[in-house]
Amino acid sequence: MCYNNVQRRRSTIVLIFCAPILFSFLFQFTTVKRLNFSYLTQRSTCDYCERQLMFYEIIPIFSFLYLKGKTHCCNRKLSLAYFCGECASLLSLLFLFKLPSLDLTLTLFIFFLLLTASIEDLKSLEISLSLIIVFLLAGIYLFEINLRSFLIVTIPLNCIYLFFHKVIGYGDILIFSFLSLFLSLNYVYHIILCTFLLAGAYSFSLVLLKFYRPHLRIPLIPFIFLAFILVTYIM
Ligand SMILES: [Zn+2]
Repeated sequence: MCYNNVQRRRSTIVLIFCAPILFSFLFQFTTVKRLNFSYLTQRSTCDYCERQLMFYEIIPIFSFLYLKGKTHCCNRKLSLAYFCGECASLLSLLFLFKLPSLDLTLTLFIFFLLLTASIEDLKSLEISLSLIIVFLLAGIYLFEINLRSFLIVTIPLNCIYLFFHKVIGYGDILIFSFLSLFLSLNYVYHIILCTFLLAGAYSFSLVLLKFYRPHLRIPLIPFIFLAFILVTYIM
């Protein structure tokens, strides 16, 4: 694909503005319990007192810094998850400087799902099923699916889950299955390998630093997210 400097500059500006907004919307979406069309027309409200937010309170990154991490209305602590995710969304710019071997739209599509799911996993060790369903429907509509890769990855992972459900969460299996539906088998194989190498190195360093506890649960999706970035950037 030919991608000249003018296109790259335009895409950079668009991503700098849109990536934090997109993350902020997706992360808020993970908190929705009942999904209906009125959700799309609702105005943003305070997480605590539900007052409608002013324009300057919904500008990603800036509003957190301007309000010093507290709500303007009721002076309560704002969730760090939004700020961290909005900053991390700018990592998507990496794919403009070295174009991925995948289609750029598909790369960004998977990037935003994994980023949102990672922050949610770090915050609550859970994953929103609504988020996966919406991405799945959008993905099937927008991209070609790879049924062979999906079956080869999903069936063994579900068998592993049956016997070792204390080692891996079903949310992680869903994410690997989702990736296998849109990526080649080789690609998913590299992501899985890289995920467990990164998570293994992290767990090993916890043991070395004596931070490890017997019932400590380590969120895996942030490692899948990092593995996806690494594999996509290197391949
Ligand atoms: Zn408030």
